[in-house]
Parts: sequence; structure tokens; C-alpha cells
Amino acid sequence: MIVRSVTDLRATVQDWRRSGLSCALVPTMGALHEGHLALVRLARQSCARVVVSIFVNPLQFGPNEDLAAYPRREAADVAAATQAGAQLVFVPTVTEMYAPGHATTVHVVGLSEGLCGPHRPGHFDGVATVVTKLLLQALPDAAFFGEKDYQQLLIIRRLARDLDIPVRIEGMPIMREPDGLAMSSRNAYLSADQRRIAPELAATLGDMARTLASSGGAVSQVVAAGKARLLAAGFSSIDYVEVCDAGTLAPVARVEGPARLLAAVRLGGTRLIDNVPVAGKTA
Ligand code: AMP
Repeated sequence: MIVRSVTDLRATVQDWRRSGLSCALVPTMGALHEGHLALVRLARQSCARVVVSIFVNPLQFGPNEDLAAYPRREAADVAAATQAGAQLVFVPTVTEMYAPGHATTVHVVGLSEGLCGPHRPGHFDGVATVVTKLLLQALPDAAFFGEKDYQQLLIIRRLARDLDIPVRIEGMPIMREPDGLAMSSRNAYLSADQRRIAPELAATLGDMARTLASSGGAVSQVVAAGKARLLAAGFSSIDYVEVCDAGTLAPVARVEGPARLLAAVRLGGTRLIDNVPVAGKTA
């Protein structure tokens, strides 16, 4: 079932609730791939009903980003989401989501400031605002997000907690192509040559994480070597490669507790992000 208005979304979810059925929300921007569909399947395992939203949110794109070019294929997405277990696909228009005069944004202090924050000004405010709205529109029992966007996941956990939104925020590990490349709707932008280079991001992060875990974590040297390897592999530029506390995203100089290695790189005009957990020193 496709629903385009908040009123209809609320009516359907309320019906489910009255029938005692739990409800999950999986927010997406469409161009669904296996990563999205795995989220839908996970959501279906924990809730009786699953809503997938498809909304290419203008608020989270910068002026020089790919809003106009972002892939849109509603019919195929609705079929795939339904097949994976969604009962309702919410596809609002921009004016349904942002009525004229819309003036409220959500900003999560701290978590939004590092990593992708400086490279995509306003991005996380756009994400936080639209996800807050989607959570309040659907009022699901649980909402599912991928660790692919690790910083985003932590921001969403925080806003749900801070704003007392009664929802469980669930994360899911990154789904990858057989060669390790994190699945992303933006992978469709890659040329054949770029597609051959792209998996080197995941390979480099994986090797770095292993080195950090076994060496006890001289972070700066490992990061410098990792950046050099990425540039040598053919990536055009590096936005960041950082090791951060897994909970606060504060940069760490030594890996002592749970940490996350996160990176954003450019390959031609395409920006790729990826991240891996880093275990504390085991030896
Ligand atoms: P997007 O459509 O890119 O906004 O992504 C919608 C949701 O799917 C977000 O929670 C993403 O983190 C998640 N997602 C996207 N790609 C992957 C992936 N490769 N593995 C796991 N989750 C993903």
C-alpha cells in the first residue's frame, strides 16, 4: 500500500495499534538496495507491521550536492519494499513534509559537529529534522537505521532520547557487496574504473582496524598510512579518516575502549563513506 499523506499514514498505523499490532519504521531515500531490504527484514522480525518511508529530503542536501541527480525509482522501490515485508510505503511530497513557512529544525549539539559535519554543512540538521518528523508522524514502536551512516545513527538515538520520542532506535551492521564495498544508492554513480577502486576503502579500513587492535593503537601513524594507501589506490581526495570513541564520536589518540574507525572519501564526483568497529588491544 502506498500512502502519500501524514493523515493517511496516521490512520493506518492507528488501526494497526487498535488491533494490537506493533509497528516498525524504516526511513529511506529510496533507490533501495539489499542494505535497505535487510533493514526491512530485520524490522519485520521484531514488529508485526513495517512502514518504509521514501523521501529524498531536500533539507539534508547542500547547494552543490546531488539532490537533483539522486536516483528516484518509486515503482521498483515499492515492489521491493513490499516483497521484503513492508505493509505500507510512505511517499510524501516535499510540500506534504514541509508546509510553506516551515521554520523548525532539530540540531543535535556535539555529535553533529565532527566527521561528516564540517564537510556537509546543515546535513545533520536536515537529517535530524526529517527523522524527528517521521518518528512523530508514524509513532512506531521501533525505527531501524544502518550503521553505514554511523554518525547519523548516534544522532538519531540522541534526538529520540532528548525529545522523549517513545520509540526504540535499532541499528543494523553494514551490508556489503561481495568485494566488501558498502552498499549505497550512490554506488550507481561510479564508472567501471571507479567501481574497481571503491572496495579498497573497506579493505583499507579493515586492515587499519586489525592493526589498531593488535598494536594497541598508535592511531596517528595508522591513520597516516591508511590515508596514503587510499590516495595510492586512486581515490581523488579524503574528507576524513578518523578513529573515534564508539559512543561519543570524540577523536581518540589511543584505542583503549570501544572505538570506531570512520572515513569519507571522494572518487571523482562521488562521495563514499564507510566505517568499522575497532576492538581494544587484545594481546
Ligand atoms: P538512505 O536511503 O541512504 O538514506 O538509507 C536509508 C537507511 O538505510 C539508513 O538507515 C542507512 O544507514 C541504511 N543503509 C544504507 N545503506 C546501508 C548498508 N549498506 N548497510 C546497512 N544499512 C544501510
